[in-house]
Amino acid sequence: MKIKSSIHNHCTFCDGANTPEEMILSAIDAGFTDFGLSSHSMIECMETCWSMKDEESYKKEIFRLKSKYADKIRVYCGLEVDYHSLPRDNAGYDYLIDSVHNLVVDGRYYGVDHSVEVFDELMRAFGGDGFKLCENYYDLVKDLLYKKNPMVLCHVDLVTKFNDGYKFFDESDKRYLGAVFSALDYAIEKDTIIEVNYGAIARGCKKTPYPAAYLLGFLRDKGAKLLLGADCHNKNYISFGFREGEELLKNHGFDHVYGYVDGAIREIGIK
Ligand SMILES: [Zn+2]
Ligand SMILES: [Zn+2]
Repeated sequence: MKIKSSIHNHCTFCDGANTPEEMILSAIDAGFTDFGLSSHSMIECMETCWSMKDEESYKKEIFRLKSKYADKIRVYCGLEVDYHSLPRDNAGYDYLIDSVHNLVVDGRYYGVDHSVEVFDELMRAFGGDGFKLCENYYDLVKDLLYKKNPMVLCHVDLVTKFNDGYKFFDESDKRYLGAVFSALDYAIEKDTIIEVNYGAIARGCKKTPYPAAYLLGFLRDKGAKLLLGADCHNKNYISFGFREGEELLKNHGFDHVYGYVDGAIREIGIK
């Protein structure tokens, strides 16, 4: 494993199964040199089961662990900020990573990654038009890029989470591809790093990583910057997908990725 930095991880302060300390100990065991927790930010208008309730305690705990394990690993206090997050003060965080998890139709929030049932309801809210739904999703991704110029864009095609077998919409259709390519193009133009994420596979929800492998050739040709993220919610899967991810990217012609190392984004060779 060439990549020894992992900055997309969840713990008991949001929807993860383990405490930050358990996650860090597991990261040390797995050989990581740089490890960040990235709890979910609070979302506007709704109490969610997956977002963080007590940011001050979270920051305090990560700060304590940073110094406790300083001789073994560099620990970072990060935040996964959702497009619909409350306006916020980002003081005290080492880095932010950004995501779109929800679509809003007639004032109702639908998590595109919540469950097949919710996705089914979302399809109905779009009159059964999966392409319209996806266009709406990628418009929000572009709006996020426009407004925030994020360092890292997480799981860019999260809207495909329940679409294995193209159950809801055909990902080879030019309407779908037009929407996703337009969002990827804009991310590249903004110099935002695009995350390659195996998290849904670790949780048994999906068979392929984000972004879908058929997008990797496009990303390589356009010179996109990629970062491997675990989106880990359980210490037993701390490095899940890292070896496979390195192989996958090498096979698609990438010789390096980007990672957060020693407090900054740096290039990491994977050959
Ligand atoms: Zn996420
Ligand atoms: Zn996440």
